[in-house]
Amino acid sequence: MNTEAIIIQLNKLSKTSNLLDIQQNERTEIAELVNEYANKFISGLSDVKGFQQNPVTSLSIDNKSSTIEHLLDIYQKEVVENGINAASGKHLGYIPGGGVFTGAVADFLAAVTNPFSSVYYASPGAASIENEVINWLKKVFSFPETAVGCLSSGGSISTLIAFTAARDKHHVKNERVQKSVVYLSEQVHHSTQKALRIIGLEDVVIRYVPLDEHHRMKSDELLHLITKDVAEGLYPFLIVATAGTTDTGAVDPLNEIADIALKHHLWFHVDAAYGGFFILTSRKHLFKGLERADSMIVDPHKGLFLPYGVGAVLIKNATATLHSNYYEANYMQDASEDELIKSPANLSPELTKHFRGLRVWLPLRYHGIEPFVACLEEKLLLVKYFRELLKENGFLVGTEPDLSVSYFRYPFAIDSDKKNQQLMKEIHLDGEVFLSSSVIDNNFVIRIAILAFRTKKETIDRAMAMIVRCLHKIK
Ligand SMILES: *Cc1c(COP(=O)(O)O)cnc(C)c1O
Repeated sequence: MNTEAIIIQLNKLSKTSNLLDIQQNERTEIAELVNEYANKFISGLSDVKGFQQNPVTSLSIDNKSSTIEHLLDIYQKEVVENGINAASGKHLGYIPGGGVFTGAVADFLAAVTNPFSSVYYASPGAASIENEVINWLKKVFSFPETAVGCLSSGGSISTLIAFTAARDKHHVKNERVQKSVVYLSEQVHHSTQKALRIIGLEDVVIRYVPLDEHHRMKSDELLHLITKDVAEGLYPFLIVATAGTTDTGAVDPLNEIADIALKHHLWFHVDAAYGGFFILTSRKHLFKGLERADSMIVDPHKGLFLPYGVGAVLIKNATATLHSNYYEANYMQDASEDELIKSPANLSPELTKHFRGLRVWLPLRYHGIEPFVACLEEKLLLVKYFRELLKENGFLVGTEPDLSVSYFRYPFAIDSDKKNQQLMKEIHLDGEVFLSSSVIDNNFVIRIAILAFRTKKETIDRAMAMIVRCLHKIK
């Protein structure tokens, strides 16, 4: 092919290839339609159900083009009106999400400009935004400036990164694996065991530390287990405490656990994925000792109400973190450690990634911290309010919660577990507000987890009315 032939071919192709780079009028049109959709979605939230089930029939990719109207239509019917409406504030199950609008705006900006945020040299500004979010988190949790960290997709990946550092610091490999011990509470999130498996520690010894009546880890039992394991020639190396368990929102006695970890030279990790940001509220005292952890995770897509897909991990031992995540290439040999830790890629398994720092940074810079804190305080009060309403209606509620998760059941005279399960089913069928269930102290219970920024008193009133309505159906 000579150049002339190539040019003819290029001209021919460009008619179609240029379709990807749409022109301003089309961009404006799409943006307006999406903006209109978003406004309609948000203003309609008070009237939608928290949970519904609809068929998925037209989501397969057929390689043909379509219109944005058509795609929005399908999206509404098969995605938005299907499952839990996490943006509605009527999601009181599992751990609720959020989706503040300024976070969505940040995602739009990040995607349009698409900076390479993982490597400082490639985009010093974007990498700095990622790092400033980590710096801010270090201040919030009183971690030293020398701690390192990164933004991940969520708590599960954050846990993986923290445990890998703990593993490498304590040289848990080869024949040592089976003699190494990890201490977990019975209420630990399942992403913990999953992370151990993924990083090759499936065969470590796991000790489940019993809980007190508030579902907090018993530190004297922890100490007892460690002493016994040491005496038997095992290698205790990691304690995982939780600041806000998924089931009950309990905060383990972090300061007491920190003492034990320090004395026995164990890595102290705190899972604050759900509860962490309550440190900004009147419950700050519960988090005493968190600043002594070797590593911690927290999920801005939970406690900062941001769109799903942003977690964070902080680790004090930079060397251990770099050990597994920094790949020594010849062209990097002159970089100082300071430069090393300016590139998020050296502290995370990810290289090319979504510029997720912007969706934390922009909302915090735009709103300031106060509305976030007020929202968190509001959730603490709403769970109290909900518990009062439940008691007034004859339900049994769990022990006074540390944070914004609690649980209840109805004291049916016979077959109480089975009847409460029926009640759960009715609640899911009704769907006005979404709740989930668990088993606590061998009882089937219905959980209430209040964390969405759009959950308000009115939501709780509706939830209570729904529960009473459902109870009448099975009574
Ligand atoms: C949500 C949660 C996790 C897992 O985090 P993801 O962001 O879902 O991966 C871990 N621990 C606790 C306590 C959680 O609430």
